[in-house]
Amino acid sequence: MKVSVATGHLQGCFGCHVALLDLHEEMLDLIKVIEIVRSPLNDVKDVPEVQIGILDGCIANTDNEALALTFRKRAKTVVALGTCACMGGIPGMRNLYKVEEVLKRAYIESESTINGKIPRGDLPDLLPRVQAVHQVIDVDYKIPGCPPLPSQIKETLVTLVEGREPEGHKKNLCHECRREHEQLVIPRREFITESVHAFVELERIDENRCFLEQGVLCMGPATVEGCGARCVKANTPCRGCMGPTPDALEQGAKIINALATVLPAGGLMFMEDVVGVGYRYSLPVSIIPAIKDVLREKGDG
Ligand code: SF4
Ligand code: SF4
Ligand code: SF4
Repeated sequence: MKVSVATGHLQGCFGCHVALLDLHEEMLDLIKVIEIVRSPLNDVKDVPEVQIGILDGCIANTDNEALALTFRKRAKTVVALGTCACMGGIPGMRNLYKVEEVLKRAYIESESTINGKIPRGDLPDLLPRVQAVHQVIDVDYKIPGCPPLPSQIKETLVTLVEGREPEGHKKNLCHECRREHEQLVIPRREFITESVHAFVELERIDENRCFLEQGVLCMGPATVEGCGARCVKANTPCRGCMGPTPDALEQGAKIINALATVLPAGGLMFMEDVVGVGYRYSLPVSIIPAIKDVLREKGDG
């Protein structure tokens, strides 16, 4: 008998559901053992009782919250799919601001808006903070990645169908990166670089050598392995979408720590957007929004 599966979409770009479709013909193997009884893909709205419920996207408004609670009630096992679901993802960057500030910026102050007004009415209300799914309901398994690898989705589902436990990764991305990075792993007296640059600021990048060793910011040391270093293989530095390693809950603090070993402390001062670099995908699960709340209460935020 096939295992029943429901999928649901919360706040995000829908890329995680597209990653599921990116299984292409491998989906034929999957549907031999699972039946997708509810999904935005087949446009079924009700959530029946199922063995596995998969949610992608973060929880940013009242509709997202209600759907997540329904999934928790109806699904025996809940899987958070993708970085938005696991850590809040890019939509979580709005946690640096109050809801009113975000709405004003988007609907009144944006450069392309004339006579704008904030929409009201039947729309779901934005929650004060964007949250990862596990911050609202219990989550049994997580598949990170923005988007997650299709092979990872298939592997997790097959593992669950067979009654086994999916295994998580523990090491950082540099362990699966094939670029030469001797300087990064050998303790040195001198710093490796004087400053870090955006990829586009350098004329030439050596495709075989570590980005950080060339002075290009790469989130590899602060990011958990598991994606096959797919961006780095394509000569693009890692941006950290898989999230931190299990022993480093604060991904931004981890990259600052890693950078402190490769460049002089003053070099960090030239990074314009440290939060945007270090917490691009994981701000809702970091302590920064809580610190901002405290500062606001004191009138400093
Ligand atoms: S994790 Fe990435 S791909 Fe998935 S919904 Fe969020 S932004 Fe889109
Ligand atoms: S910092 Fe980036 S390029 Fe360097 S070894 Fe780590 S993942 Fe590879
Ligand atoms: S290399 Fe980095 S940004 Fe690219 S998929 Fe892997 S974790 Fe995400």
